[in-house]
Amino acid sequence: PLFSDFSLDASIQQAISAAGYTQPTPIQAQAIPVVMQGRDVMGAAQTGTGKTASFSLPIIQNLLPQQNSSMSPARHPVRALILTPTRELADQVADNVRQYSQFTQLRSAAVYGGVDMQPQTAALRGGVEILIATPGRLLDHVGQKNVNLSQVQMLVLDEADRMLDMGFMPDLQRILDFLPKQRQTLLFSATFSDEIKKLSKKFLQNPVTIEV
Ligand code: AMP
Repeated sequence: PLFSDFSLDASIQQAISAAGYTQPTPIQAQAIPVVMQGRDVMGAAQTGTGKTASFSLPIIQNLLPQQNSSMSPARHPVRALILTPTRELADQVADNVRQYSQFTQLRSAAVYGGVDMQPQTAALRGGVEILIATPGRLLDHVGQKNVNLSQVQMLVLDEADRMLDMGFMPDLQRILDFLPKQRQTLLFSATFSDEIKKLSKKFLQNPVTIEV
């Protein structure tokens, strides 16, 4: 398949060309149409397979109708939340999202522990549609009312197996309470262990399973 088969907006196609991608990777070929249809996804994919673009590109596409250039933070509620186990992965995903959305008006930010809250708070208060976060720091910001998750339409659990290994289950459970029940959820994991299956039962509805 080609990227042009997916009916992605021209602004996204332009970013794909600028990144130098010529062909979708196998996970992208399978996931992009399914995510664009609004289905939940359980994806088995390691890093290096192109999994970040497999969820970022259709998220950007799905949010395009809601982009606006208003400066009012109230008009930029978080619509997509991407949870990652580590600061490094959050930064990588945020770099990718920024690259893929560079020709749109969508705004994104990353928040994670181990650094000052203040610059993150300023970014959140300015309004972002796409938020990349590690679970603990996200809960700190929610607790301080720096961000409201009530408008989240799309949730990604990236490297879910590592999040569980790192003991994030209680945090994930708490985050779930702040999210709308009606939303699209994508879970990516290197393995489908019993723990991951349990997590998917809590977070996903009738998911399409994709393995590459
Ligand atoms: P990921 O598995 O998401 O960490 O992506 C691994 C690397 O592959 C990143 O450096 C991406 O920029 C790159 N990449 C993602 N999709 C494509 C593609 N369709 N063609 C070429 N490179 C890609």
